Amino acid sequence: MKIEHLGIAVKDINASVQLFEQLLNTPCYKTEEVATEGVKTAFFHTGESKIELLEATHDASPIAKFIAKKGEGIHHIAFEVENIEAEMKRLAALGFELLNAIPKNGADNKLVCFLHPKGTNGVLVELCQEKP
Ligand code: ZN
Repeated sequence: MKIEHLGIAVKDINASVQLFEQLLNTPCYKTEEVATEGVKTAFFHTGESKIELLEATHDASPIAKFIAKKGEGIHHIAFEVENIEAEMKRLAALGFELLNAIPKNGADNKLVCFLHPKGTNGVLVELCQEKP
């Protein structure tokens, strides 16, 4: 439906929240820890879309691994979908590799599913659907 948010991996979320508040001239409206993903998140409104900052909470977190390999920067792009299960089925049938077989709980009241970046030109894609 639209780009719901861009996820940006950062080393120090408190410093980055200050930086993005200055950059975007808007306050961070929500911070949330997603323990199952090993991340702390912080969200900003930017028009129709959002910016999600992600900091690892431990060394085995996917964000810690990403930063170790590539450094800070854009981590994923999230597309909003109306029916995540139908979209997962559609993409799996086309040969895309889903990183989770059933939708899981993400930050910001969303059900989410990630697609393996090897099938999407190196871009980690997140599908997200607002929870009812
Ligand atoms: Zn995200």
